[in-house]
Amino acid sequence: MPVTRLAGVFVATAAFVIGCSEPAAANRAAAAQVTTAPATPFEFVREKMGGPFRIVIYATDREAAERAGEAAFARIDQLDAILSDYRSDSEIVKLSQRTAAGPMTEPVAVSDDLWRVLARGQAIAEQSGGAFDVTVGPFVRLWRRSRELHELPTRERIEATRPSVGYQHVRLDPHKHTVQLLAPRMRLDVAGLASGYVADQVVAAALAAGAVTALADAGGEISVGDPPPGEDHWTVAIQSLKNPEEMTGQYVKLRRACVTSSGDTRRFVEIDGRRYSHIIDPKTGVGLTRRIGATVVCPDGMTADALDTAVCVLGAERGIELIDKTPGAAGRITTIDGEKVTVYESKRFRDVLVNPK
Ligand code: AMP
Ligand code: MG
Repeated sequence: MPVTRLAGVFVATAAFVIGCSEPAAANRAAAAQVTTAPATPFEFVREKMGGPFRIVIYATDREAAERAGEAAFARIDQLDAILSDYRSDSEIVKLSQRTAAGPMTEPVAVSDDLWRVLARGQAIAEQSGGAFDVTVGPFVRLWRRSRELHELPTRERIEATRPSVGYQHVRLDPHKHTVQLLAPRMRLDVAGLASGYVADQVVAAALAAGAVTALADAGGEISVGDPPPGEDHWTVAIQSLKNPEEMTGQYVKLRRACVTSSGDTRRFVEIDGRRYSHIIDPKTGVGLTRRIGATVVCPDGMTADALDTAVCVLGAERGIELIDKTPGAAGRITTIDGEKVTVYESKRFRDVLVNPK
C-alpha cells in the first residue's frame, strides 16, 4: 500500500489540488504543550470503482492511519458490491433484473445503503423535473454501445427503450424501505450520485476506525471531515472545464462537506464531429451535446453529486436556480460555446470561496 507522509500541500492525482497550509503559530505553541503526538497526514491510493481512490488520513502515527485506511477501503468494497452498475452480482443490478420479464409484482426490501441512495435520487429527480433520473440506465447502455461502435442509436431504438425509463416507475415505501419497479426491462443507474455517497461514507468509516480527520477523493468527488488540526478548513482547487489540466484559480473551503464536479471534460463520445457527453438528457435519450460542466458544494456528498449531474441537463440558468433552492448548496456552472466560456455562480458560491494562504 503506498503511504506518503505529506507536509503541508497535497497534490491530487485527478481533478483537484488540495492545499492545506501550516498550522498557525499559536496552535503550534499550544500543540507543543500537550503530551500526545500531533496528528499528521498520511495518504493512501488504491484502484477502486474504475479509477484511483485517494484517502488522506490524519492520525497520530502510521499504524493508526493504516488501520483507518483499511477500514475506509473495506467500506468502498462493501458499497461497490451494492451500487455498482458494472457488476452483474451487485444488489442494484439484481434488483433491476427482476424487471427482465415485466414490471415487479411485489415490492422488494433493499439494504440501507441502496435505500438512501435511491431515496435521494428520487428526491432530486422530482426537484429537477426529471432532468436527474436514476432509471436512465437503458439509455446509458445505448450510450456505451455508441461509444464502442461510433454510431448513434436509431430513433426506433430510442423509442423502443423509452418505456423502461422514467423515475415515476420507481415506487419507494419509506416505512418498509422497499422498492417496486413498475416498468419492464428497467435498469437503475446510480452512478450520477453514488460516488458522492461513497466519499462521505469513506470519511465516516475512517473516523469510526480512529482517524483524527480524513479526506476522501473518489475522482471528481471530494468529501472531508473536520479541518486538519490547527486549520480552519480544507482547501480544494476547482479544475477548469475547458482545459482539464488547468485549474480555474478558484478554491473552495470545506468542513464536514463535499465538493463534486461533472461535465464532458473526460467522458464523451464523438460521432460525426459532434460530442455526446456521458450525461444523458432523459428527454432525448442521448448524451448532452452542449458543453457544460458544474462544481457543487453541499453538506452531503450524495446531494452535491446528484446536483452536478442534474444541472448539466437543466442548463446554466435553471441549474443555478436548482442549486439556489437546495438548502446548503453552492456551485458554479461553466458553459463553452465555440471559444466563448461563460461562468455562472449560485448565490452562496462566493461564501464558500477562499484564497489559499
Ligand atoms: P456524474 O459524473 O456525477 O455526472 O454522473 C454521470 C453518470 O450518471 C453517467 O455515467 C451515468 O451512469 C449516469 N447518468 C447519466 N445521465 C444521467 C441523468 N440524466 N440522471 C442521472 N444519472 C445519469
Ligand atoms: Mg454527479
